[in-house]
Amino acid sequence: MTPKQIQSILTPNKKIVITTHKSPDGDALGSSLALQLILQKKQCEVSVVVPNDFPDFLNWLPQSNQIINAEKQPDIAQKLIDDSEIIFCLDYNALNRIEGMENWVEKSKAFKIMIDHHQRPEEFTDFCISDTSKSSTCEMIYDFIEFLGYNDEITENIAECIYCGLVTDTGSFRHPGTSARTHQIVAELISKGLNNSLVHQKLFDNNSVSRIKVLGYCLNSMEIASEIESAIFSMSEKTAQDLNMKKGDSEGVVNFGLSISSVKCAAFFREDDGKIKISFRSKNDLDVSIFAQEHFEGGGHKNAAGGMSLLSMEETIEKFKKSMLTYIQR
Ligand code: 5GP
Ligand code: MN
Repeated sequence: MTPKQIQSILTPNKKIVITTHKSPDGDALGSSLALQLILQKKQCEVSVVVPNDFPDFLNWLPQSNQIINAEKQPDIAQKLIDDSEIIFCLDYNALNRIEGMENWVEKSKAFKIMIDHHQRPEEFTDFCISDTSKSSTCEMIYDFIEFLGYNDEITENIAECIYCGLVTDTGSFRHPGTSARTHQIVAELISKGLNNSLVHQKLFDNNSVSRIKVLGYCLNSMEIASEIESAIFSMSEKTAQDLNMKKGDSEGVVNFGLSISSVKCAAFFREDDGKIKISFRSKNDLDVSIFAQEHFEGGGHKNAAGGMSLLSMEETIEKFKKSMLTYIQR
């Protein structure tokens, strides 16, 4: 589709729903809210609908208090999706990433547009912008706004949302996906009034006590599996309760494993609702996205992926050690 064709459907009063993946992170929410704000300037009727709650440390994002949580407000979420004329799918490319609302989105007659940077997109949308070379979906939203010629409409609030995803998905501009273009966009956002330093403060100096206690527990109980050059973290439901752990408190913990010089892979195993949710991180050529897909029903990016297991915690970690040993030896 050309910019003109897309512009021609983004008309005033158009009913639009923006969706993003389960357990939304800074890039998921930043891209969704930035797009919502820009489309509202075009007088579209836009809602952001997410599968479940997002972590408290993102609650400063503009309009985040208006986000519809499909787990808590299923009737409202379903009606918005049923009534929508356009659905945006941001920062995910597989329907199982919006667990709980996938049937509504799949069945909807709305025109669906995907904007995403993960590998192997599923074909469930009518128009798909998928680019794994992009640092973040927020970078792609900036490009999308520029593509539509709406640059001059970027406000400080929109700049904050986009910057939030750029910072979080690039690990503060250090991951390999960070390009000259990423920095160019930041420069343009700053020239539009973004207070970049303040966003960093809101993101990283906004921890709850429980988040730091969770980090302390995880670092202290970390296991190093030297035969697979891996750092292993785990969190049982019981420990999570004892530490008063809240949603998102363990986000980012896994990266501390990678900061150890001898470690090539870090894995975080979290017991959640009868299953084990896993986060993988790796350095350089070790592709954890393929590993997660082959062994833990997951996927993601080469150096940051996730998956799940229905085995017990001990069995899951055993399976990880065995399968990683085979994986790195092949
Ligand atoms: P995180 O460890 O931060 O939850 O996720 C890291 C990356 O892997 C994210 O880009 C996320 O989209 C992807 N990811 C996490 N869990 C899953 C999963 O269960 N399936 C797939 N396909 N990707 C996942
Ligand atoms: Mn992302």
